[in-house]
Amino acid sequence: METETGKSSAPQGRRGGIKFVLLHHGGCDSGGFHYRIDANGRVDAELDESERGQHPRSIGIVVEGDFDAEAPNDVQLAELRRLLLKLKLRYPAAELGAHRQVRGGVETTCPGRRFPMKALAEWSRTGLLDERDEVLRRDFEAQYSKI
Ligand SMILES: [Zn+2]
Repeated sequence: METETGKSSAPQGRRGGIKFVLLHHGGCDSGGFHYRIDANGRVDAELDESERGQHPRSIGIVVEGDFDAEAPNDVQLAELRRLLLKLKLRYPAAELGAHRQVRGGVETTCPGRRFPMKALAEWSRTGLLDERDEVLRRDFEAQYSKI
């Protein structure tokens, strides 16, 4: 869609500009999400990562369900963690956040009062980094084991 020259560096530049991965739930009516995770854990891309979503410099993920009323299921959370790992590899500096943490917007509970945001945020600073290091180590060994 874009010319080879001139704009070819744009995605890379934008990648460097991603500061947050923001989580939403189905009760969020704002739209503009990059990824959607349904009740069965299926992940669909709705926007290209190079496109602006609901918030600038952010990748938006919506997990279907009303998490003011109920908690997300284990399959959804497992797939969410897998997606977050992929995004961490692409955007090392991006931090995990909840929609409700965005300042200056409409007041919201998104991604819901029963969404385990605190546990996920904690994991993003510990377990996620371990998983990322494991992926990087495997990639490294795959590249060099034959030398
Ligand atoms: Zn939201």
